Amino acid sequence: MVRGGGPGLIEALYNAAGKRGIDVLCDAWVRDLMCCDGAVSGVTARVQGTTRAIAAGAVVLACGGFEANTEWRTRYLGRGWDLAKVRGTKFNTGDGLAMALRIGAQPCGHWSGCHAVGWERYATDFGDLALTPGFQRHSYPFGIMVNADGKRFVDEGADFRNFTYAKYGHVVLEQPGQFAWQIYDSKVLPLLRDEYRTRRVTKVKADSIEELADKLEDVDREQLLRTIREFNEAVRTEVPFNPAVKDGRRAAELAIPKSNWANAIDAPPFEAYAVTCGVTFTFGGLRITNEGQVVNTNHEPIPGLFAAGEMVGGLFYFNCPAATGLTSGAVFGRLAGRSAASFAKARRAVT
Ligand SMILES: Cc1cc2nc3c(=O)[nH]c(=O)nc-3n(C[C@H](O)[C@H](O)[C@H](O)COP(=O)(O)OP(=O)(O)OC[C@H]3O[C@@H](n4cnc5c(N)ncnc54)[C@H](O)[C@@H]3O)c2cc1C
Repeated sequence: MVRGGGPGLIEALYNAAGKRGIDVLCDAWVRDLMCCDGAVSGVTARVQGTTRAIAAGAVVLACGGFEANTEWRTRYLGRGWDLAKVRGTKFNTGDGLAMALRIGAQPCGHWSGCHAVGWERYATDFGDLALTPGFQRHSYPFGIMVNADGKRFVDEGADFRNFTYAKYGHVVLEQPGQFAWQIYDSKVLPLLRDEYRTRRVTKVKADSIEELADKLEDVDREQLLRTIREFNEAVRTEVPFNPAVKDGRRAAELAIPKSNWANAIDAPPFEAYAVTCGVTFTFGGLRITNEGQVVNTNHEPIPGLFAAGEMVGGLFYFNCPAATGLTSGAVFGRLAGRSAASFAKARRAVT
């Protein structure tokens, strides 16, 4: 059992390594794989400013995707992704993928896809350990989202947020100016998640819809008023609102319907929150065997090379449900670690 979020997880890993006498090198930037006779035999790394060759019986690459690499995001995810905010570390720049591809590893999965969410519009460019959990904005199923044209652009209530949040960052990125406002009225304010009550929040509050429309300066005012009026008229009020289930309380007969949890935006005070796209991790990775060993473009396992976590390709396409990132890290990390240990032992036995 791990407590304390990311820092708690890392502390548990340091403790586990310490108990087993495993050295951990900090400020170590791995630059390349060392190869001997077609097999991976270690890495070269800049360790505290000095280049070192580190020999190893096997190497497990677990250094993330390319979400923090502006140029690769644009190259693989496409137009507009250069401007996405990065939710996590600035160090996941695709280094591991690049060094594996250089020795013939096979790319696999959805290289133009990623996990991306609605994120504070004026968030820092990369994750900030002290602030980052507060930048997500995941209560949109209980309100509406409008773009600069004053229009809704997605079914906010298509499913529980756990099943939509990872793909809706992409939808926000596609809007003019790459931003949107989430709008809520007082009926649902008590349902908003804790992150809406943190300090780094771009928020507008108003006592009438007209005042709200005046305050959302970068939004087409008249269209916004029309959008809210039409939305309010479309809500199926005869169906009871129930946030605990997919309640089927629709706003139908609209160009973009809302399938569940539709409530008229009519009870002041009103609150609006500005969001943009925050990318969590990229889906493209390397092909591995059932033992976690990296496969080359000739469809053969590369001796001595294993991969885990975001570096494994072929796990996610277009979307992924909540909690699968860490699950994949744990499952494929254990697999790759065990396989690498057996490989290294067998290698030592024959040398
Ligand atoms: C804000 C945020 C919230 C999240 N919340 C959840 C959640 O609630 N549930 C969930 O399941 N998942 C969540 N995730 C996703 C999850 O954290 C990741 O999917 C998971 O950590 C990936 O593990 P990994 O080991 O592949 O990569 P990471 O945990 O990203 O680790 C990669 C490491 O490699 C290092 N590195 C990169 N390049 C090099 C190099 N050249 N040399 C040396 N080191 C290098 C990086 O510094 C980094 O420390 C969240 C992610 C973020 C950013």
